[in-house]
Amino acid sequence: MRINSRCIHGSGRPTDDGVVPAIQLSSTFYQPHDETLGEWEYQRGGNPTRAAAERLLASIEGARYANCYATGMAATAAVFSLVNPGEKVLFCRSIYGGTYRYAHSYFPQHRIDVEFVDQPNALQASDIDENVSLIFIESPTNPMLHVIDIQHLAQIAHKKGILLAVDNTFMTPLLQRPLDLGADISLYSATKYLGGHGDLLAGVVLTNHEQLHEKFSFFRNTYGAPLAPFDSYSLLRGVKTLAVRLERQIQTTHRVIDFFSQRSEIVELNYPGSHSLAEEEIQNRQAKDIGAVISFRLDPKLNKRKFLDSLGFIGYAVSLGGVESLICTPATMTHEAYQPQDLVASGIHSDLLRLAIGIEDGDDILELLASGLDNAQ
Ligand SMILES: *Cc1c(COP(=O)(O)O)cnc(C)c1O
Repeated sequence: MRINSRCIHGSGRPTDDGVVPAIQLSSTFYQPHDETLGEWEYQRGGNPTRAAAERLLASIEGARYANCYATGMAATAAVFSLVNPGEKVLFCRSIYGGTYRYAHSYFPQHRIDVEFVDQPNALQASDIDENVSLIFIESPTNPMLHVIDIQHLAQIAHKKGILLAVDNTFMTPLLQRPLDLGADISLYSATKYLGGHGDLLAGVVLTNHEQLHEKFSFFRNTYGAPLAPFDSYSLLRGVKTLAVRLERQIQTTHRVIDFFSQRSEIVELNYPGSHSLAEEEIQNRQAKDIGAVISFRLDPKLNKRKFLDSLGFIGYAVSLGGVESLICTPATMTHEAYQPQDLVASGIHSDLLRLAIGIEDGDDILELLASGLDNAQ
């Protein structure tokens, strides 16, 4: 099956012949009266609806194993649980605010070192300290949309015998598959594109390594943040329309970029490949398209408040990847956990806006953005 079909059929046919998997809500399962256990025992450890969601996600990623968690942050925390005191994690600049919060506040308390790398594409194995055990990146980065060469980082990570994890939330498995590019771990906030309807929190960690998979299952059962059956069902349902949603979103995103490029009121425009020819080349090589999130700054002479007030259904809210278009101010919203100096180092100005394009009619979205610019004069 091609990936568009796997989005629909990747979890396999349910054993009860339902066209969709049943929602199995039971917290516990009767066991045979002997030493053996049945296939399912207790919901925290395993659940048929969640297992169906995991088969679907593994199928579209082309991964051997998937573990679904209650949120994207729980998935991120599971990956971070691989790191031990005394070790160090390398991050790219401008990562998701919640990931930064974890790295900045939790890791030091647990004697784990953190380093933010400004030029990851130029990183060499010899630059990496001996105590580094994990490289954790996003590509494109949030919200600056820098592109990071996943294959390059996988090569140097493996030269050093360390792990590479890629938060692939912005790209989805339809546009970019980190495991195929050499990463050890691919993870998602499934709250975004995979769920796709703004009504679900979920996370998933994917890998081809059996030992890592066993650890992720252990962390999930031990820390207790598995994806609930009902949410697993919502996720299964959401993924079915991922390919068609994304197609519309990407099409409109290219139109918005063309439109903004012609408007002098936009003084900075970021999207994957916008920063340099080198990044554009990497994006074209490792991903199928640019996704549907951009960030930009208005000419400071314009009234940003009036711009936001004139955007109609383009709501002022965090999150992305849903059917609704949303706009936010990363410096005070998604990235409020950043220290001021790290906002500066990441290039996240206080007036930077991040726009996540939904599946509404592209003509409406362009008209609203145009009227926003006109009203902000
Ligand atoms: C939203 C997001 C997360 C966190 O996911 P939650 O589901 O909100 O916990 C992690 N990484 C990225 C890139 C995100 O956009």
